[in-house]
Amino acid sequence: MRVAQRRREKTVSYTEFILDGHANRVYTGLIQMLRYDLHSHSTASDGTLSPAELVRHAAAQGVHVLALTDHDATSGLAEAARAAGELGVTLVHGVEISVTWGHQLLHIVGLGIDPGNDTLQRGLSGLRDFRVRRAVEMGRRLEKRGIAGAYDGALAFAEGPSIGRTHFARYLVAQGKAKGVQDAFDHFLKRGKPGYVPGEWASLSDAVKWICAAGGQAVIAHPARYKLSASRFRDLLVEFKATGGVALEVISTSHPHGATPTLANYARRFELLASVGSDFHGPGQSYNELGRLPAFPAGCVPVWESWNLPQRHR
Ligand code: AMP
Ligand code: MN
Ligand code: MN
Ligand code: MN
Repeated sequence: MRVAQRRREKTVSYTEFILDGHANRVYTGLIQMLRYDLHSHSTASDGTLSPAELVRHAAAQGVHVLALTDHDATSGLAEAARAAGELGVTLVHGVEISVTWGHQLLHIVGLGIDPGNDTLQRGLSGLRDFRVRRAVEMGRRLEKRGIAGAYDGALAFAEGPSIGRTHFARYLVAQGKAKGVQDAFDHFLKRGKPGYVPGEWASLSDAVKWICAAGGQAVIAHPARYKLSASRFRDLLVEFKATGGVALEVISTSHPHGATPTLANYARRFELLASVGSDFHGPGQSYNELGRLPAFPAGCVPVWESWNLPQRHR
């Protein structure tokens, strides 16, 4: 019988007591708790740090395991992986896929994907084509509202292949049309506002299938941000699981305060693994700092449980 008792300390270390097979010897050793952040963005989508800068920032913040999850794009992963190798950060190859589920926009994160997988890349490529068509139309609509050059302006802010509303927001701020990114969304870019262009993203089952085809785990990103009734949310979890989804982001710094216990309950009840992420977009951007996440909820199984990451013995 192997009994392991783990004691959390205030720092990121804990002591592990292991009784051997005959329960007559005790080994102790300090093993560092790994700090995870499994949701972040770089300039490959709408983050403001390059992939290498993001990984450097993660290392400086004490993050050991970082997932780069750009919107509908994996082009930042190679650079991030190189930087991670140099800095001793474990990089998880990720992506955040835009999904239309009924009338609802959802984001599905893929963790541990193979970015070389054709099925995944064909899917993402279609979504990025839609992003370009949408951006052209957003430019037209904003032009009608007296905002000239928005498409070219947003394009200038988009350093990667995945142009999005945040790039328009930054252009609107630079033009003095909005006080900040949030203000730009509130007045121009949210659903029902002049620059909003509806459209069909991936279906939920396609997004999950692409992630699975690429060997990854599908995670419902920031579930507390969707304005779904409890019964609709349960429908989502059932459908997500049926198509192969495995995890729920129970901790996101983009969540409203107090969301975690409810989400942790859902994860337990629906036997979904639990993921955690800051949804970091860059210093001074919306939401929170990289790696500064609240405690992992008791009774949930972490999405990384099966990853076999090396423990860091000190
Ligand atoms: P897109 O995928 O191009 O439609 O843009 C979605 C991204 O815009 C999200 O990932 C956020 O980074 C950002 N975003 C969405 N809604 C808001 C909002 N209300 N305020 C600020 N940023 C937002
Ligand atoms: Mn974003
Ligand atoms: Mn998202
Ligand atoms: Mn995100």
